[in-house]
Formats: sequence, C-alpha cells, structure tokens
Amino acid sequence: MPSAGKICKAIKDLQFDIPILLVGGHVAALPEKTLKEEACDFVCGGEGPYTVVELLEAIKNRETNFGKVRGLYFRENGGIVRTELSPLVKNLDEEMPGIAWDLLPMEKYRAHNWHCFADLNRHPYASLYTTLGCPYKCTFCCIQAPFKQGEKLLGMKESVNSYRFWSPDAIVEQIDLLVNQYGVRNIKIADEMFVLNPRHVLGICEKIIERGYDLNIWAYARVDTVKDNMLEKLKKAGFHWLAFGIEAASERVRDDVQKGFGQEEIFETIRKVQDSGINIIGNYIFGLPEDNHETMQATLDMSLELNCEFPNFYCAMAYPGSQLYQLALREKWPLPKNWSGYSQHSVDTLPLPTKYLSSAEVLRFRDEAFYTYFKSEKYLSMVEKKFGKEAVQHIQEMTSKKLERELLKSAIL
Ligand code: SF4
Repeated sequence: MPSAGKICKAIKDLQFDIPILLVGGHVAALPEKTLKEEACDFVCGGEGPYTVVELLEAIKNRETNFGKVRGLYFRENGGIVRTELSPLVKNLDEEMPGIAWDLLPMEKYRAHNWHCFADLNRHPYASLYTTLGCPYKCTFCCIQAPFKQGEKLLGMKESVNSYRFWSPDAIVEQIDLLVNQYGVRNIKIADEMFVLNPRHVLGICEKIIERGYDLNIWAYARVDTVKDNMLEKLKKAGFHWLAFGIEAASERVRDDVQKGFGQEEIFETIRKVQDSGINIIGNYIFGLPEDNHETMQATLDMSLELNCEFPNFYCAMAYPGSQLYQLALREKWPLPKNWSGYSQHSVDTLPLPTKYLSSAEVLRFRDEAFYTYFKSEKYLSMVEKKFGKEAVQHIQEMTSKKLERELLKSAIL
C-alpha cells in the first residue's frame, strides 16, 4: 500500500487528468478508508473484473455519473458513494480466459531463491492462478477479502468461502504458451490453496506429464489436503516444492486461529511428501494470540526437527480483511500507524502482541529463530547433500545480512 499510494500521488502530481482506480485485497477490505487516505478517484470493493470493465465503459462514454458501475466507491459532494454489489465471475474459462503475457516484461520476473536451489538460474519465471479463493477460515488470513462482495450477492453465508476453478485444459494451455513462447521452466502456482480437489490437481498433472515438459513448479498445500494418490503425479509433473502452513507447534495456539490439524498429522504429511521426492517450504508464525515463550520455542524446535528444505518465519500480523484484524480493533490491540508497519521485513514493522508477550518480544524471537535455523549444521548439511555447495553459499550470503528493526532498537526487552 505505501508504494501504491506513492504511485497514485506521483500520477496526480503530474496534473494530467488521469482517473485512478485501486483494486485488490487491501482496498476491498478497507474501501472507504482507502478512498480517504489515498490520492485515487475510485476504489473497487469486490474482486474487480466487472467493476473495471464497467468503469472503463462509463469513462469512454464520457459519463459523469458512475452510480451504475457495480462494486465501486467514489467521492461525491463531500461524501463517499457506494454502488451496488458486484458479482463474482462465474465461469473463469469463458470470462477470464488466458493471461496477456505479451503485455508483461517477462524477462524481468525472477523465481524465489529456494525455488531454484537445485539450479540458481532464476530466470525465466512466471506465476499463474488455477483457482480463486480458499474454503478454509484461518483467522489470520485475509485472502478472501476481494470475494466477499460477490459472495454476499450470491446469498452465501458470511461463514462460507467461495472457491472457483479454471479447467485443467485452460491452465495447461497457458503453460504451453509459457514453455514454448517464453522458455519458462520455473512456475509458481499462485493459488492460495492448490492441493485440494483431486480431480483438478490430477487433471493438470496428467496433462503436463503427457506433454513431457521438464518443469520446476511450486504450489500451496495443506497438511490435511494432501492425498497419497496425488504425490507421484505431482512429482512427475514437476511439482518439486509444496508450501505448507504449519504455523505453530502448540495445539492450543493453532486451534485458537482455526488451524485444525494435529502435530502427528504434520509430521506424517511432511515425511510422506519428502519421501516422494518433493521439497517442503514450511511456514511458521510466531506471536499468535495464545503464544508465550514456551510455545514459540516449541514452534522453533519443531521447525528444526522437521528440517524442511526451506522455512518462512513470520510474525503474526492483523491484516485488514482477516478475522484477526477485526479482533484487534475490538480488543484495541496496538496496530501499526503506517501500512509499512504491517510488512514483515520493513524497518518499522510492528507485529501483534500476544496475550503474554509484547510486540518487541515476538519480533526479537522471530529474528533470532531465522538465524538459528539457517545457521544450523543439520540444515546446512541437508541442503548441501540435496542441492550442492552453491545453495549453501547462497544461504550463507543471505544470513550475512541483518534486518534493521526500529522496534528492537528502542525496546527494553
Ligand atoms: S491460511 Fe491458507 S488454508 Fe488458511 S484460509 Fe488462508 S489460504 Fe486458506
């Protein structure tokens, strides 16, 4: 948001008459606030496609009344107007077929470092969605925010999330283009939850296998959604990495954020996936509301025991659009004053405090956990064995840098 806000301001400073519409998760969660804070003319309260097309039509036709554009927020007579709800796109294959790769600077995109541990050449790279939404309800997650308007219009209960698919044919058509036209091998499936529906997942895998492509793909899965019959095909199709939200070791901490699977299931799934030759990105969160020193240490210990090929250590943040954000507002928990404070890597990052720990205690623990893991002998020798010396050097270069944290400079811990 800070960058988007600066871009809006720079465009407005040019004093050309260029209307600006903001679309996306953050603005859909906070449409009125965004309109008040940012130098934009319009904000989209839903997922976007219908609102964008209808607004463009209205502007092209030189209309001055935007009241008929669905899903829109704009200023009028000193107040904010909100138009009727915008629907969700129903048929993704028909209504949103394909991606305009030709309009993107494809040579500039670069894969994550770990994605290419086996061959640190990170270009060319592309990411694409095969589904939209996630049926689960983890309280710290904000990904469903842009879909809530359309879900309401469909009469769906607030507690139910939509989940939509492109067909395997439509997806593999895009992969054909990426491989044959752009020479792409490294692909991120950007779906919030890819490994869920066996027909969808296996349909895509089978079509990739038929083509004999040599791909290096990663995607999100859940500990409780990976089925035994999926792994062989996933690996054969080139899914060399799966990312899992493991979050925390303590059942109490996990249950409190509705991440309802047990520790035994975590170990069982992770080992099963690794045994099939697929590498794991383990995602962990420190500072969830029920966390104390012991539970955070248990999370770090579990991560060291699992020894995944790559971990991501996060601090809990109350992102707009998540249930945690609503809870933080209700409970008057301290939240960052600037949007940059919500960024995990920013200098002014401000994680949530827990019931037992301050924000600074959480952040210090997280930053130390990062170095403990990446400098551990067990981890580095596993990386060397699997990916070679170059990957180890890359990790050592990464850990030679230290993040600057304002909160840790001023805090008395
Ligand atoms: S954290 Fe993952 S599983 Fe949970 S709601 Fe978000 S996308 Fe779904």
